Amino acid sequence: MNDLQKKDLRFIWHPCSQMKDYEDFPPIIIERARGAYLFDTDGKSYLDAVSSWWVNLFGHANERINRALRDQAERAEHVIFANFSHEPAIDLAEEIVRLAPEGLSKVFFADNGSAAVEAALKMSFHYHQQTGRTRRTKFAAITDAYHGETLGALSVGDLDLYSRIYKPLLLDTLKAPGPDCYRCPFGKTRDACDAPCFDALERLVADHARELCAVIIEPLVQCAAGMKIYPPVYLKKLRGLCSAHGIHLIADEIAVGFGRTGKMFACEHAQVSPDMMCLSKGLTAGYLPMSLVVTTDEIYSAFYADYTELKAFLHSHSYTGNALACAVARETLAIFRDEAVLEKNAAKAAYLSARTCELFNGHPYVGEYRQTGMIGALELVADRATKEPFDWKKRVGYGIYRIALEEGVLLRPLGNVIYFMPPYVVGEKDIDSMVETALSATNRYFGLSPK
Ligand SMILES: *Cc1c(COP(=O)(O)O)cnc(C)c1O
Repeated sequence: MNDLQKKDLRFIWHPCSQMKDYEDFPPIIIERARGAYLFDTDGKSYLDAVSSWWVNLFGHANERINRALRDQAERAEHVIFANFSHEPAIDLAEEIVRLAPEGLSKVFFADNGSAAVEAALKMSFHYHQQTGRTRRTKFAAITDAYHGETLGALSVGDLDLYSRIYKPLLLDTLKAPGPDCYRCPFGKTRDACDAPCFDALERLVADHARELCAVIIEPLVQCAAGMKIYPPVYLKKLRGLCSAHGIHLIADEIAVGFGRTGKMFACEHAQVSPDMMCLSKGLTAGYLPMSLVVTTDEIYSAFYADYTELKAFLHSHSYTGNALACAVARETLAIFRDEAVLEKNAAKAAYLSARTCELFNGHPYVGEYRQTGMIGALELVADRATKEPFDWKKRVGYGIYRIALEEGVLLRPLGNVIYFMPPYVVGEKDIDSMVETALSATNRYFGLSPK
């Protein structure tokens, strides 16, 4: 362990980590980063195959974004956002509304993904209170959902690993079994199915319609659950169901937004408009924390009244509408416009799919490879025939992660799911080394021959 690592462990408590693991696996100290690569203090490079936790879009130290950030820092870094505004925020909001699914027309700012989810939940509840539906106090979600780590966001999530101990503190949320395409209980396949699994959510919502404010969902991919991909028809049905019962549909596009699934927003695959859309992560291309709740005129109007009616949404965060983050986000959207990003990504996604399928075809421990757009995932199983998962205590994914890091690729498996979610600047060579390293690390872990 070098001095920086020792000091790190003396003073820092890292996120999402059992700190004891760091005893024999100290933090990798990054000195600089460029494009899809990170460089540590020894000069060793790591291909950032997970976009630094799904945030980076156009590479590290991107020239255009760096310039936008520098320019804005010279003008104004941050100003109070109540009664005050600035051009980066205004331009950003205009462009977001232009890009967002139809009907989403007002942009509310927050400063991280969980905060956007909290704001959306409060906004939905508050809307119903102010429109005479005061018995609506609950939210519904599906199993394996993930919406962040703050208490409200944890309440609508369903990953026990993160929430179990906090159960006594959480909101009472209704949960229906969600889609599980790899282990489909209906024996369907993802591409040819009418989502019979939706019946469970339909029944739950119908039974509790008068108590419900909103259903919150991650459109198309439940990322934290292990990149669980489900078909758009599920979302389409959910939109119809929510509309029929006057329940809001909150689309949490924090992970899947900004092109990850091949379209700007994942909702587009189902051609649905939610009542609220939460955005963060790629919004600022991996530079700065910021999030948005984009909503409808109808919801906005329920808060619009004379001050003395006390209908305002009095929710705020100190760094709301941060000018640096807005300037970065504005530049991010300009890059999408100027550089035909989604079109170029389509070719990269096809290449990723072809290479992964070729290399992992018939692998004894790969149960499934699934991909949508620039998100690809290999589900490792103990037995391909029965789809029996590995015992979580073996930490198979973690073992592979450590080997891949030695080999210079930052994969960070979710449980036993190895996934690729690279920055869009990767070229074919980068994709090759990402997939080849995933294979060699997996094989080394299992004691198979490396290729
Ligand atoms: C990451 C994530 C969040 C939480 O965002 P934070 O910025 O980490 O609080 C919420 N929902 C989804 C789908 C996410 O992937």
